[in-house]
Amino acid sequence: MTAAFHLQTAGGIADAVRARRASATEVAKSFLDRAAALNPSLFAFIELQRDDILAQARAIDTNISNGKDPGALAGVPVAIKDILCIRGGLVTCGSKILKNYRAPYDATVIRKLRDAGAILYGRTNMDEFAMGSSTEHSCYGPTRNPWDTTCVPGGSSGGSAAAVAARLAPLSLGTDTGGSIRQPASLCGIVGLKPTYGRVSRYGLIAFASSLDQIGPFATNIDDCALITEILCGVDPRDSTSVDAPVPDLRAAIRRGVNGLRIGVPKQWMTNELDSTVRESVNLAIDGICAAGATRVEVDLPRAHLAIPTYYLVATAEASSNLARFDGIRFAHRASGVHALIELYGKTRDEGFGEEVKRRILLGTFVLSAGYAEAYYNKALQVRRLLKDDFENAFAHCDVIAGPASPTPTFEIGSKSNDPLSMYLCDLFTAAINLVGLPGISVPCGFAKGKNGPLPLGLQIVAPALREDSIFAAAAAHESATDWHRRIPAGFET
Ligand code: GLN
Repeated sequence: MTAAFHLQTAGGIADAVRARRASATEVAKSFLDRAAALNPSLFAFIELQRDDILAQARAIDTNISNGKDPGALAGVPVAIKDILCIRGGLVTCGSKILKNYRAPYDATVIRKLRDAGAILYGRTNMDEFAMGSSTEHSCYGPTRNPWDTTCVPGGSSGGSAAAVAARLAPLSLGTDTGGSIRQPASLCGIVGLKPTYGRVSRYGLIAFASSLDQIGPFATNIDDCALITEILCGVDPRDSTSVDAPVPDLRAAIRRGVNGLRIGVPKQWMTNELDSTVRESVNLAIDGICAAGATRVEVDLPRAHLAIPTYYLVATAEASSNLARFDGIRFAHRASGVHALIELYGKTRDEGFGEEVKRRILLGTFVLSAGYAEAYYNKALQVRRLLKDDFENAFAHCDVIAGPASPTPTFEIGSKSNDPLSMYLCDLFTAAINLVGLPGISVPCGFAKGKNGPLPLGLQIVAPALREDSIFAAAAAHESATDWHRRIPAGFET
């Protein structure tokens, strides 16, 4: 007997559907039944439209019975963060200001998933406009971590991470501006990849900080992550920042091994101040990759400590500009009972945006304003440039950089709500990678002891621009030496 669909890999499901051992409709039904039973305790999905999902599945089955090639993700449900446009569907960025807004077109990644035969499977919860590290800043309420439902799944792509960790979907899409794929992947014990800036088209992604945003996948294992990444990548005339580079052969990279691969470990990341369980697990993981043929070298990122302040200047500046379009005139929510235009803008934005988004808009407007832009925004751009030099110098001595994805395991819901700065520190090891545009992954590397059971930890692996292949080689060596990725949170196995 074959395993239940939720215990199979995405690749396994696609093979079964392509070979007609299973139908897309059976797959969809089984995941929908699972979500009906399990999503209420997590709130990973804010919307799952059974009829629409079954209609997509039937269309895939019809194609197969007509002899058409159903694509590499045939019949695989892929959960979608509520920030990516699906033609005709609601897309709200977890915000009241976009409630009832429907997307007029498909994002490029959505079109690619459709072409690959995937089922677009529900909208997942997120921090409002992707601002946050816990998925608590959603107008719909928080998502819970399947490893401990009193804790956060990380964020901002927490719904997409929780859905895959709980096996409510084999794959999902998130976005990562300062860590929002890698940090929730780490906190939920799954694989999450932020590709090189420009690798994946941002067309149809509602912008937070355009020079940092990247779309990427969550998966339970590295093969599935490679499978979907190859589909998502590629130049797109609709996104002028997309890179015209060949789609990488990641599955070949996985088979290649790590002989001679040099792993750089930044001394600024692995300090005595780092949580000791995180440090030990990351060190053991690196030792494991070295046992498979890699070597470890220490590298220097002298300006690593400037990443968080720089990120919060650049990201808020870009956000204040991007979010100016939500003014009550063009999209969704419009305040009523107002008499003047300025009053309409003010009241609409006051009603529509949550507290964290308002904080960022104010900060961003301030750092761009005349008289302050020199001191803050322009200074941040200079430091961003210096960080790029730091990584270039480090990569003169190594092929990948490894360290923690998150400074701590998950934390209790509400525990950082009154302290935005401590929330910002969740991105300590991830934000620099976005500032410099590099690819980075988080893969499961162990567990910390929590109050209510084990809490997952993640190893981050970073490579030079467009060298996702090195990341996959290292991550695959790690995965075959460990079984962390096989663990499923209690209560979600069956
Ligand atoms: N946590 C970071 C922030 O709040 C990163 C968010 C993201 O990557 N979208 O901005």
